[in-house]
Formats: sequence, structure tokens, C-alpha cells
Amino acid sequence: MRKKLSPSDSGYRGRFAPSPTGHLHFGSLVAAVGSYLDAKYHHGTWLVRMEDLDTPRCVTGAADNILRTLDAFGLHSDEPVLYQSQRTAAYEDALRMLQSNGAAYPCCCTRKEIADSALNGIEGPVYPGTCRNGIPIGREARAWRVRTNNEAVEFDDVLQGCCTQYLENEIGDFVVKRADGLFAYQLAVVVDDAFQCITHIVRGADLLDSTPRQIYLQHLLGLRIPQYLHLPVAVNESGEKLSKQTLAAPVDETHPAPTLLRVLNFLKQQPPTTMAGSSVETVLEWAIQNWHPERLIGIRALPSSDAATMK
Ligand code: GLU
Repeated sequence: MRKKLSPSDSGYRGRFAPSPTGHLHFGSLVAAVGSYLDAKYHHGTWLVRMEDLDTPRCVTGAADNILRTLDAFGLHSDEPVLYQSQRTAAYEDALRMLQSNGAAYPCCCTRKEIADSALNGIEGPVYPGTCRNGIPIGREARAWRVRTNNEAVEFDDVLQGCCTQYLENEIGDFVVKRADGLFAYQLAVVVDDAFQCITHIVRGADLLDSTPRQIYLQHLLGLRIPQYLHLPVAVNESGEKLSKQTLAAPVDETHPAPTLLRVLNFLKQQPPTTMAGSSVETVLEWAIQNWHPERLIGIRALPSSDAATMK
């Protein structure tokens, strides 16, 4: 029997950080459940943070809907939900710090200009560096970018192993404040993970390629680097990530326990068949006690249909 500790005893602080651009679907529920189980297995604190920063992509009512769905699945944030839309001042401070030490510079380039002169990297065009040494005369700043270099950024992911990126070649100087005045996800996530003292980040492997940018920013801002665990991403029959774009269905919150068992099957947690018919609370409690993330080592994607039946 494991000793009962209170969340604050263990020092572990994890989070689930959905963007309210639509309903919670199977893929996002996997990240919610995985981060919750890892936190609770370690007697930690689990938080929900609403990443409602990209206002043009946010959908009215989606944040409340996501929180209601999480509640139906027994996933309750241990502290009040933090909304990124209310954190602009903190992002401004971080940008000022990057500006003052020369790490961030203004950029006037349009998307088209970049596309016309850039080579392709891991995530589309690598910024060609046009504004690195100043904005051409007669042009106006639109965005702020962070200057990168080609020193290896390396981290050891709990499931995906050692990951290395050379930011300047593979990503390029990246945007921290966008031309529309909004702060970029990469900056906001780092500022908020530090603000919330997050020690462990458990999320989908679709964000694996973003992690080196976040670690680079953590270095520049003098922030602590959390431990990363990237779970396999749920994909459909065509191998596409389940998302709003691929028309992933919202999770059914009226019958949460069977869906939770599907999530556990997806995560290779092997819930016993006798759990069918149990309540969400019972299934979650079993899952915390029997959390074995190592069964997912090296797996970046899995078809969601694999979890369709109890095995
Ligand atoms: N808000 C991001 C998303 O929904 C996740 C951010 C994170 O977990 O770091 O894809």
C-alpha cells in the first residue's frame, strides 16, 4: 500500500493546457488523463490552464464546455483555472527581458516574403534572417522574433528518449509576439509553466518539436526546465492527428466511464475487463494505482481505433 501524501508534499506539479478552439475530443482527453494520472501517481498537484491566447481561433463557450467535460471525467483542477487571456502583462514583461538583452528583435517580414525566400525546416519555412540586423529603411516592425543559434538543444524525454534540435537550421528565429499583436504560444507556455511552478509536463507528442524552442526560451529567461513526457498522439485511419481540422468527434460526457476505459486502453494501461460498468471514480483510482507510462516508450502515434474495445 502506498503511503498517502498530500499534493504539496511531493513537489510534483503537472498541468493540462487545452486551447478552447472546440470540444474536447479523444486525443485531447488522452493528454488530460495522461497528465492527471502521472501527477496523481506521484502524489502531485494537477492544474488546468486554459490557453485562450489565440483569440481569433477561440470558440465562444468552448472553455466552459471543456471544463464541464473534464469534470464529468472526474478530472478536477487542484487550483483555480488560469486563463492565458488574463496574463498579457506577464508576457509583456518576458518580452521586455528578451528585448533588453538583445535576444528578441523586431521583424517586418510578411508571410509571403518569408515563404518566397526561405528553405523549409521542421515546421515550414525557416526564417531567412532578413531583419536580424535591423529593419530595412522604410519598413515597419510587425512581429518580434527570438534570435536562435546552432548549438544543440537537447533534452531527455521520459518516453521519447533523447531529442536534439539545431534551432537556427531546423526552425529559424521564431516569433514570440505576432504581427497581430498577440503573444505566441511558445512564449506564453514557458512564462505560465514557470509562473505555475510546473515541474512535469505531460502532453501529446505533436508538441515534441516545440519543446526545444521552449527550453531555449527557458534558458534565455532564466527559468527552470521541467521534465517532459510526450504521450503518443491519437491518429485516425488516415494517420492524421485527431483535431478540429480532421473533424474529431467530441467525447461523450454522458457516459464517461467507457470512454475513460478506451483512453486507458489507448495508453496501454490494460484495465481489467471487470472494470466495465464501474464508475469513473473507481476507474480513475485503479488507473492511478496502476499507472505504467513505460509501456509507451518510443511510441509517437497510435490509431485511436486501437482503443475501441476492451482487451
Ligand atoms: N494548448 C496546447 C494545445 O492545446 C497545449 C500546450 C501544452 O501542453 O504545452 O495544443
